[in-house]
Amino acid sequence: MIDTVLLDLDDTIFDFKACERKALSAALTKCGLVFSAEDVADYSKINDLMWKLLEKGEIKREELRTRRFEVFLSRYETNVTPSEFADLYMQMLSETDVLIDGARELLEYLSKNYRLYAVTNGYVQTQSGRISRADIGKYFREIFISQNVGAPKPKKEFFDYCAAHIPSFSLESTVLIGDSPTSDVLGGNEYGIFTIRYNPARLENPPDKTPKREVYALSEIPELLLSL
Ligand SMILES: [Mg+2]
Repeated sequence: MIDTVLLDLDDTIFDFKACERKALSAALTKCGLVFSAEDVADYSKINDLMWKLLEKGEIKREELRTRRFEVFLSRYETNVTPSEFADLYMQMLSETDVLIDGARELLEYLSKNYRLYAVTNGYVQTQSGRISRADIGKYFREIFISQNVGAPKPKKEFFDYCAAHIPSFSLESTVLIGDSPTSDVLGGNEYGIFTIRYNPARLENPPDKTPKREVYALSEIPELLLSL
């Protein structure tokens, strides 16, 4: 029987793309830069790529912070440095709180019926700001943010830290719910946690990163958990 749920936040509870678009547009506007929707979409691709490199251990967290903006800002004529822009962007991002449809209802349900923990890759400043703005911190017994933990999902160290901080942790009674094959599904599978992929776009699962179960809407989760 399942009694503990580890829940990813970005693109599982927060609509991260919407948050990212808002934060980037606000930061660019503050810097007086004229931009298109395409620019914003390009940034998203650059950022995704950098996070994949971080998950694989190919770049460091501090490099990620500015390198994505070095690449992105090269298209504009501006005196703003990547580091200054990174500070501004992260400030703006910490003030975004767009939730996915049904997320709050799911959090209400899970927090009443399970021991609920957040497991998120991100910076403490941005994640804490968004969690408090959205008023969702109250649903979790603890929030594990990779910057605090010292390693990101899918690394074993991340899950070791969670296991050590969850009272009477047991693999058999825990599930991990998240959208990402490379951080949530891979990390959970390798650690021996039952993985559930939230996959609203019905994207293909990479063969070596197949979740134990998959849901297409958050509303499917309560019934699925009861069936396990
Ligand atoms: Mg995610």
